[in-house]
Amino acid sequence: MIHVGVNGYGTIGKRVADAIRAQPDMSVAGVAKTSPNFEARVAHERNYPLYVVDGDRTDEFAAAGFEVAGTVDELVAASDLIVDATPAGVGAENADLYQRHDTPAVFQGGEDADVAEVSFNARANYESARDADYARVVSCNTTGLSRLFAPIAEEYGIEKARVTLVRRGGDPSQSSRGPINDTLPDPVEIPSHHGPDLNTVFPDIEVDTMGMKVPATLMHTHAVNVTLASEVDAEAVRELLDDESRLYVLPPELDIDGAGKLKEFAQDAGRPRGDCWENCIWGDSVTVEGRDMYLFQAVHQEADVVPENVDAIRAISDTADRAESMTLTEDALGLDGQIGQSMRDPVVQPPTVADGGRDPDAE
Ligand code: NAD
Repeated sequence: MIHVGVNGYGTIGKRVADAIRAQPDMSVAGVAKTSPNFEARVAHERNYPLYVVDGDRTDEFAAAGFEVAGTVDELVAASDLIVDATPAGVGAENADLYQRHDTPAVFQGGEDADVAEVSFNARANYESARDADYARVVSCNTTGLSRLFAPIAEEYGIEKARVTLVRRGGDPSQSSRGPINDTLPDPVEIPSHHGPDLNTVFPDIEVDTMGMKVPATLMHTHAVNVTLASEVDAEAVRELLDDESRLYVLPPELDIDGAGKLKEFAQDAGRPRGDCWENCIWGDSVTVEGRDMYLFQAVHQEADVVPENVDAIRAISDTADRAESMTLTEDALGLDGQIGQSMRDPVVQPPTVADGGRDPDAE
């Protein structure tokens, strides 16, 4: 059993904690919070031991009715491994803390690549993290592109890729983010940082990326063009992608025209928080002209990195190979590569009293 501490319990941290709890070979040692806000309430209700980042604020947590298990320092000492899901840049500041305790760590894509020995994507380079102590799960966009490019590069070879990333302005909870009435080239420099970030996973792929930000919160949308090294027909590409467990090729008859219906579908399917862990590729958009392949995909920024964090934990702990880990992760989450399948058998549910959760009526 790998005992994992989660430092930073926000958008990514709370999802990763639930995903860890669902795994047969992992447990949550505790989660660290800076303030006794609504997410501290969620952690408390889900019965995660709550550690405070700043020991001087322990009384605030107590006044808000939370039992404090200790400080973040104590969480790091008590954990086999830490998932750092603090805001971008804070992870690098925490690196010393993990090193001091000799505790391996998984960082997130908001950090620079040099925070860790490996920039990680399970499908693309799982094995390279097996002898590392620190790995960085690449950003939501880079994760989405890595999953897509791995099978394409292996099967056909990639001569050159060009991607326009239409990015959500902020997550649904990020009320201060924008734009709220504009369409921005962002970053305005070309290539955007996404191409170089992808090269931390695939050093040999030639890729140009352009980024935009739009007034949306649900998902990112990628317009992808890949010049393949060999000729192929669109149906073969569709089948190749459809065989990938973390790529969902949307059948046209579902009539899903964007992120709104995708989220609705995921919610109907009983996915926790309406999360789409898979890339969602519009099957009808997969087009090939000569050696040029085109498609559109949607990436749920809050969710796609979650299974990757779970696999990064196993890779660093060296307890499973890539295939074993990806299957374990997917089975435990109910990640089926087709959102609709999980309607029959939703796996991850909020913990109940019977499995160690807190009975809200008991207070
Ligand atoms: P978030 O702001 O939702 O959550 C971060 C949490 O960490 C908050 O609860 C915050 O209070 C807490 N925190 C702040 N300082 C802390 C500290 N010193 N110690 C411990 N906790 C602290 O952020 P997020 O969206 O979950 O992002 C976390 C990381 O994941 C970032 O690197 C981000 O770039 C990356 N990421 C985010 C997304 C996304 O779309 N939200 C997607 C992929 C990767």
